[in-house]
Amino acid sequence: MSDNASANNWNEATGGTLTTLPVEAFDNILKNADFFEVYRLKGINNFWKDRIEYLMGLDWMKKKMYLMAEDTPAPTTKYNDGDDTLSTSFCIACGEVHDKSVFDSFHPVLRGLRDLDICFTVDESGILVVGLFDRNADDEIDVLAWYRSRAILRYLVSIGIKKLQDFSGNLFMQPACSGIRMKPQTYSDLRPYTRTVGGVLRAIAIQCYFYLELPNRILFQTLVEHYQQQNNSPTAAVAEAAVFREIGQLHHTLNAALFSNRMRTEYFQGLLRKFP
Ligand SMILES: [Zn+2]
Repeated sequence: MSDNASANNWNEATGGTLTTLPVEAFDNILKNADFFEVYRLKGINNFWKDRIEYLMGLDWMKKKMYLMAEDTPAPTTKYNDGDDTLSTSFCIACGEVHDKSVFDSFHPVLRGLRDLDICFTVDESGILVVGLFDRNADDEIDVLAWYRSRAILRYLVSIGIKKLQDFSGNLFMQPACSGIRMKPQTYSDLRPYTRTVGGVLRAIAIQCYFYLELPNRILFQTLVEHYQQQNNSPTAAVAEAAVFREIGQLHHTLNAALFSNRMRTEYFQGLLRKFP
């Protein structure tokens, strides 16, 4: 039974309509509804739709829907000093033990970032610090960063172009961060005013592109050999095509979703031409 059907059935059964309830009742439901539930409720009937659109103009609803920053600053990340082990856990990306509650404040469409090997912390000035790998890592770092970067791009693509575009202007987290810094900083600069879903994801994607673009001879061979081992030993040429075709396509999809097709990197375009 669709949502509309259940609303209509109820209207018929009660001999009245949902709209005869006082608006305060609707507002209370919406206050407690989950982020996606609010969008879903818009589809129930015109009254809900109108009411939600009206409420979208109010501050509390804007804050709830990641459209306006809450007044409180983003909480800073706590590193484990030995006496607080409950709220902290080991971070595989940076190799330290720290508070991971920052994920709870992420935009609902991005909650899956929690499952990836990517480090998010918030510094004292509210800057969101994003790291892709252990800063103490050795020569394996290129391979590791390559796989982690691909996993992140795969995740972003899995969200879907439309959702990424729809929520691009929303705040990345709530309370909002004051900006974003990539770690290690050598590869990317501080973006002090970037705090929207689109802005933060663009910064992350650019960092991922950097690592994916690296393939030196050793990394290249490793990627191809890994693929052969995991896929019943196809020829090196087949493995190469499969690995790099996917990378070209991930970039192509995200170029449309996050960069309005303005991100034209020769390396990735070359991959698309070589492995159509
Ligand atoms: Zn970390």
